[in-house]
Order: sequence, then C-alpha cells, then structure tokens
Amino acid sequence: MRKEEIQAALAEVRAVYAELAKRPVQRECIARTDCCQFKLTGRTPMLTKGEALLAARTFKATGRKELPERADGSCPLLKLETGKCMIYADRPFGCRTHFCDAAGGPYARKDVVDLIRRLEAVDLQQGGDGPRRIQAAVGDLL
Ligand code: SF4
Repeated sequence: MRKEEIQAALAEVRAVYAELAKRPVQRECIARTDCCQFKLTGRTPMLTKGEALLAARTFKATGRKELPERADGSCPLLKLETGKCMIYADRPFGCRTHFCDAAGGPYARKDVVDLIRRLEAVDLQQGGDGPRRIQAAVGDLL
C-alpha cells in the first residue's frame, strides 16, 4: 500500500470522527472506561481497517510495540495504571457510538449509517475484510 494512500485513509477516518462529533446527538463521555471492560460488558469494539490503522499508529507513537495480554478482559489499549485510553483522541468509532448508558446509550444506526459506510469504503480500499475485534485488528498491524 502506498504511503499516500495510507495517509488518505487515515485522514478520512479522522474526518469521519470529526463529523460524528458535530452530529446533534447528546453524548456525555467522561472517560469512565466502563465500556473498556469487555468481560463485564460482554461486548468488544469491532474495527474496520482504517480505524485499526489509525489506532495502531497512535498506539505505536506511545513507544509501545505490542498489545499487552489482559486476563481481566479489559481493552489492551486501556492504561491500567491511569485508567485512561492510550489512544483516546483516535479511539475507534465503536468507542464513540456504542452502548455506554452513562454516556447516553448507543447511537441510532440511522443517525450514523453514512459514516459507517465511509469507514467501510476505507476498509475496502485498504484491503480489509470488514470489522474485526480490536485486539486482532490492531495487534496484526503492530
Ligand atoms: S480503544 Fe480506548 S476507549 Fe476504546 S475500548 Fe479500548 S481503551 Fe476503551
């Protein structure tokens, strides 16, 4: 994959996240990180290829080279010492739109389906095969 194509993919993913932030849907994410405890929630974020590329790049920029094993079922991108997401500014779409009741519950699909389609278009361009669990999607790109 050419460098320019990857840069364009990352820019498009970031544009989707920025567009989502402008949507008139009430959200109050205060980074409680309850949703980052997959074993507790029973749900794991699924990432398209562009989202995974961006997450992996931001994770690597922290100086880390591989995802930690998490026996407690928490997200490997959660910094346990601080309880904060290591890639918060570039966190995946699912982490922005999902099921956190405290943040306002899930977005209605009709409110974000155009953005999902844009992420799927990047996925196709980047040779992805649809959304994958965050651990594998990011781990394979490190
Ligand atoms: S990527 Fe960040 S916000 Fe998303 S589940 Fe992992 S730690 Fe939480």
